[in-house]
Amino acid sequence: MIQANRAQSNDDNHHPDGNQWVARVRTKLESAIMTGCDMGALEKLIEHELKELGRPLLEEAVQKLADRQALLCPRCSCELHVERHQRQRTVSSVFGQVPFKRSYGFCPKCQKRFYPADNVLGLQERAPASPRVQEICALMVLESPAGQAEANIRRLTGLDIGQSTMHREARRQGERALRLREADVALTNTLEGVCELAKRTQSPKGAFTLVIEIDAWNIRERDYWGESEKLRKKGEEPSRWHWVYAGTIFRLDQRGKTASGRSVITERGYVATRQGLESFEKQLYAEALQRGLSQAESVLVLADGAAWIWNIAENRFKDAVHRVDFWHVSEHLWKVAHDLYGQGTPEARQWVQPLLHWLKRRKDGALDVINTLQDIRTSLDGLTDKQCETLDRELGYLDTHKDHMDYKNAKALDQPLGSGAMESTCAQYQCRFKRTGQFWSLEGDEAFLALATLHRNGRWNQLFPHDQIKK
Ligand SMILES: [Zn+2]
Repeated sequence: MIQANRAQSNDDNHHPDGNQWVARVRTKLESAIMTGCDMGALEKLIEHELKELGRPLLEEAVQKLADRQALLCPRCSCELHVERHQRQRTVSSVFGQVPFKRSYGFCPKCQKRFYPADNVLGLQERAPASPRVQEICALMVLESPAGQAEANIRRLTGLDIGQSTMHREARRQGERALRLREADVALTNTLEGVCELAKRTQSPKGAFTLVIEIDAWNIRERDYWGESEKLRKKGEEPSRWHWVYAGTIFRLDQRGKTASGRSVITERGYVATRQGLESFEKQLYAEALQRGLSQAESVLVLADGAAWIWNIAENRFKDAVHRVDFWHVSEHLWKVAHDLYGQGTPEARQWVQPLLHWLKRRKDGALDVINTLQDIRTSLDGLTDKQCETLDRELGYLDTHKDHMDYKNAKALDQPLGSGAMESTCAQYQCRFKRTGQFWSLEGDEAFLALATLHRNGRWNQLFPHDQIKK
């Protein structure tokens, strides 16, 4: 239950007299001044008193809005069979508890009861929060765990929203975000739908390259909290580790530099899910369409060498250039260097540096690197079994990706060599998800991921359209 600041009971919608209100608040301010306080205390005092003015105004307006609603089904517009008039509901608003009355009826077509007024007001079924309170809960829980969010909200708004309410409310908004996402994904199943998604692209000025970066990270649930080390020692991976698949999509022309020289991307799309690869692939495709996939002159997919990523790239972005992250490739070469010449030795560095240089500077750098490794494998005497194994493995890796390492060309076109944008995205998501008190159920995680992603994608107004209303 939300314990909002309860203003005076106003069943008769009694509005405080403005002049009296000013006089009373002034008296309170004066006594605050006498006891010695700073400006912040004065601000809080007025803010608190303003709720008394706002609440009856809101109550009156909400009732008027509810009264205006025709009793039509919000789904099919069919006339509802009225079941009951003037049923009361009370919601927690930023001004306190607001009661109002509205009618409900039964839709014979949808076979469901509806409260048309609730729908128009932006109130979810049986939920206690007004749209502003819903939004506050959702935004604050995105930024910090519910316990901390509770304290922050109390400080910033004076609202006393319990942790569990906040958690439930954020989850409810997450589920709404999930349904919006599912609707977008469903559009990819038809040609009309694909066109509709493509139409949402901000019209580009000229030809552009669309960059798609893909990665994944692990998330764990609280079942094994603190036990994963024990399990691993026993040789068991905790079964409740889950992969979160993530992608980021941006146009190359929307990349710039700050005054301090840091790279920034002004517009980006995001995808993050733990619903498995098949679902991820569809979500990524839907997001790519909305970011200009069908208008792009060329498409570039950037990722590490994981096979699942390249399967998705083949399935959905067949004509795209596929590039394996340069720093991943260099890690593989460093591994060979260390196995051949010893961990951290100058010899290892001396051996690997020219190879890295070729990759970036030579047209067929990847082939030159492969040839070098092959020469060592066949002509160097006295290789240990482990060294042979490393060479074979890394030759396999390089051979798989030899067509994905056109770094010289990438540099010439000022394209990214690696998936750094994706890595920073993952870090941001993980930062939020790896905090304690954060491990929800599978369903909760997915709702929360959907909410965080909708926010990052700049579609917050789909959940909370109230900011678009002119003041
Ligand atoms: Zn209906």
